Amino acid sequence: MAGIDLAIHPSWLVIAFLVTYSLAEAQFPLQFPGWTTALYWIVAAATAVLFFGSVLAHELSHALVARRFGLKVEGITLFIFGGATSIDQDSRTPREEALIALAGPATSILIGVALLGVDLLIAQPQVAALVGWLGVINLVLGAFNLIPGFPMDGGRVLRALLWKLRGDRLEATRNAALVGRILAYVLIGFGVFIALNGSPLSGIWLALIGWFLSNAAETTVAQAGVERSLHGMRVRDAMDVDPPSVSPNESVADLVQERMLRGEDRSFLVRHDDGVLAGMVTLGDVRRLARETWPEARVTDIMTRFADLATIGPDAPLTDALRLIQERDIGQLPVIGEDVRLPLGLVTRRGILRLIEARLKLGV
Ligand SMILES: [Zn+2]
Repeated sequence: MAGIDLAIHPSWLVIAFLVTYSLAEAQFPLQFPGWTTALYWIVAAATAVLFFGSVLAHELSHALVARRFGLKVEGITLFIFGGATSIDQDSRTPREEALIALAGPATSILIGVALLGVDLLIAQPQVAALVGWLGVINLVLGAFNLIPGFPMDGGRVLRALLWKLRGDRLEATRNAALVGRILAYVLIGFGVFIALNGSPLSGIWLALIGWFLSNAAETTVAQAGVERSLHGMRVRDAMDVDPPSVSPNESVADLVQERMLRGEDRSFLVRHDDGVLAGMVTLGDVRRLARETWPEARVTDIMTRFADLATIGPDAPLTDALRLIQERDIGQLPVIGEDVRLPLGLVTRRGILRLIEARLKLGV
């Protein structure tokens, strides 16, 4: 699809193999006895490929409806428990949210019904085996995703309904996620029960799905809280306008003695005498250097150079800065304005987290 990245998590290969294996060695031989082993495996492999296509169709339909509403869709990832479509922006109305969520299960159910219809008309056993299994699995996929707990599609529909009824998106997210966690624990309990009563593999599988769902529900609530508390804030509202700086020619020994061991600063902008940004140096850069070499080494030898630095503009949303910091796993971002070589300030992970904490405590 133009503009939508598709990523396949390695765990999908495990799923593909498990599906092929169980179809070739158990399901098809039981249902359709008398084929050769090779034929079972060929039909099973073809079915697995089309199963992959089914999950993809489900995710694509979420993506296309989101796009229809003008939301930016980043990509689709297929991973061990199915797929995920990452939509860059939140939907603006409960109706959009509900329609995007419903598109996936609706597509799966439509495909399922259509395939089962085709299955009734087909006598050729290999095609019937493939179409029949895919029909059932698409119905299961559609139905399972309608479970009304966040982050399942049904949970998103529930969130949209609560949002519509009460008008508060964050509260709706919390409630839908709570239902999601309760259902996840039920799934884990059920999985453990099945595992102890004769089907260890299916049981463990269900429990794993439950565990994954409860984690996803928790993460969503935490993110929604953070995003609410930073809502409307820009990088310039949180940046340090007079961040500590050092000269590229300063020795590492001086940097440690006179700066790092004195104050609480751990990261420094490296600037030439005219203020131009040369790079950034942190405690981590110093630690990578053998202690004996500190007196001779200069800051310019160990710093991250300007060209390799992640930076952000002063008017970017603060949530973007936090996302970039988390993605790159760094502690801070230089804030760069029109003149790219003259930094306006520094926004740090610690600073943003402190701000979130204060705002959450004050309830603003
Ligand atoms: Zn879905």
